[in-house]
Amino acid sequence: IVIAHGDDNGLVLPYDVAPIQVVVIPIPYKGKEEPINEAVRDVVRKLEAAGIRVELDDREDLTPGSKFYYWELRGVPIRVEVGPRDVERGEVTVVRRDTLERSGCKLDAVVEKVVETAKQMTADLSKRAWEWMRKHIHYVDSLEKAEKLIKEREGVIQLFWCGSEDCGREIEERVDARVLGVPMDESLEREGSCVVCGRRTRYLVRVAAAY
Ligand SMILES: [Zn+2]
Repeated sequence: IVIAHGDDNGLVLPYDVAPIQVVVIPIPYKGKEEPINEAVRDVVRKLEAAGIRVELDDREDLTPGSKFYYWELRGVPIRVEVGPRDVERGEVTVVRRDTLERSGCKLDAVVEKVVETAKQMTADLSKRAWEWMRKHIHYVDSLEKAEKLIKEREGVIQLFWCGSEDCGREIEERVDARVLGVPMDESLEREGSCVVCGRRTRYLVRVAAAY
């Protein structure tokens, strides 16, 4: 099940599917241009070598702040900043897109840090998606109720379906919804009646309004 994650700053793409997983942004400082650029190139090389999809934003006509905003809007999950203080310490700063939490690490450890941050983000995102789903899920036992809730755009509807093609088509037509999938784990625990034909079944399907 794919759920779009977003906040006021736009989209947050799940790390695994993001076309650009990490954006690297130099923080220019007069007199330190060369060491900063060198560190930035080093970071990009290391990430690329580890198979991470990385983009270097070295546009000279944009401030770092407007670059942060630009990439946040596009949902790039992780940002690596390299500024004068980072370079002095042989470090970089890693920023999570979802929480905007910043943390430093040694430049030499940037790959490990990115991988670990991505793992944590993925775990947190699926936890949030699951919590969202819980809060917005409605179990319904009739097509009429499903139709009404979908019209009102009330989150996700869960209903029993016998598994037959005819009933499936009828559900899709009547409810005018997008079938999100069958939640396997729960299907095993519960039993109910198909909302179309009334046959007993363990199939639960989730549908959401087709936006
Ligand atoms: Zn049926």
